[in-house]
Amino acid sequence: MTEYLSKRLSAVRPPQTIALALKVQQMKAEGHDIISLGQGELDFATPEHVAEAGIKAIRDGQTKYTAVAGTPELKAAIARKLKRDNGLDYEPAQIIAGTGAKQLVFNAMMATVDAGDDVVIPVPAWVSYPDIVRLAGGNPILVPMTAADGWKLTPDALAAALTPATKWVMLNSPGNPTGALYTAEELAALCDVLRDHHALIMADDIYELIVHEGSFATPAAVAPDMVDRILTVNGVSKGFAMTGWRLGYAAGPAWLVRAMDILQSQSTSNPSTISQAAAAAALDTDPAELQPRLTRLTARRDMVMEAIAKMPGVEAATPPASFYVFPSVEGLMGARTPEGGVIENDMDLSNYILAAARVAVVPGSAFDMPGHLRLAYALSEDRLAEAMDRMVTALSALELPVSA
Ligand code: PMP
Repeated sequence: MTEYLSKRLSAVRPPQTIALALKVQQMKAEGHDIISLGQGELDFATPEHVAEAGIKAIRDGQTKYTAVAGTPELKAAIARKLKRDNGLDYEPAQIIAGTGAKQLVFNAMMATVDAGDDVVIPVPAWVSYPDIVRLAGGNPILVPMTAADGWKLTPDALAAALTPATKWVMLNSPGNPTGALYTAEELAALCDVLRDHHALIMADDIYELIVHEGSFATPAAVAPDMVDRILTVNGVSKGFAMTGWRLGYAAGPAWLVRAMDILQSQSTSNPSTISQAAAAAALDTDPAELQPRLTRLTARRDMVMEAIAKMPGVEAATPPASFYVFPSVEGLMGARTPEGGVIENDMDLSNYILAAARVAVVPGSAFDMPGHLRLAYALSEDRLAEAMDRMVTALSALELPVSA
């Protein structure tokens, strides 16, 4: 019955991660003890005072529709946050809250991208960017980044990718899946390339609060003369362990925010009223309160890096931010499994790791960068330690290809 599906939907790739996720589910159902390093979601609980704000909203009867783009209270909290943390000044009409940062990326693309428009996406990138662009009818222009450049887009690569058809450039720092973090200078150099081009810039800052070393910077703050072309997207999912509350926000030029508001008003309307109340409390959180969680995440990252050093054929520089490590596994291509199979690509390798170590990891090809794996260390320390031990054992059992 697929003839009923719209042409729009057929442009979207079936996510490469789905086969793996289904296999994980099946193996768990069969009683296997699978440890997943696949989820981009923290194991921590929503902070107590934030959860309480949500509960209070329910008790106080804040259970009705709100303005599509969010309550005045939430918008005020977002504006305070943008000022306090990023030095940015935004009016309520330049701010919109939505059902997760994902909805804001989606709405921005749907509101601006026409057939024939190009959107520059440095890869590896979050799986959803290219498909959202395709759904909007545009062409994702994938620009490869390299580990040697710290998985960061260089000004030259950006300049080479721009054409008159480029409508947007997507920037994501800290980055998923690599944990890369751009400095203010690096962002300024990219903005310099874009200054005389008409492209809009999306700054996806969703991992802002997960920085182990270095400082977070955002394009709107480093290139204030370009704010009328920058949409800053952020949310509470990652920083506050609130993925299930589904609350993200964006700040940008009023014309764009208005267009996103119109689109949202004909799809989901306002994000959950209860989640808005909780998010307002989250955004007013003293950063010191989040420090113990960050310290734990940094220790987990170091645990993963120590384990990677013991894995033959696996290489990664220590990522400065986010809760992902994105090692190269090129050294394992052509390796033989104890059962006599050959690892031809990163999908084969993730399948082998699942079968042999009962650990789920995402192949880099899901992020348009084959030859790599993404390991998310968003799970408890003891489970993570167990996963690393199992991976070291399974990878050590591979017979490595003789290097040329
Ligand atoms: N941007 C990036 C880079 C992400 O990794 C994610 C979540 N995986 C999102 C946006 C969306 O976050 P949410 O919709 O949960 O706010």
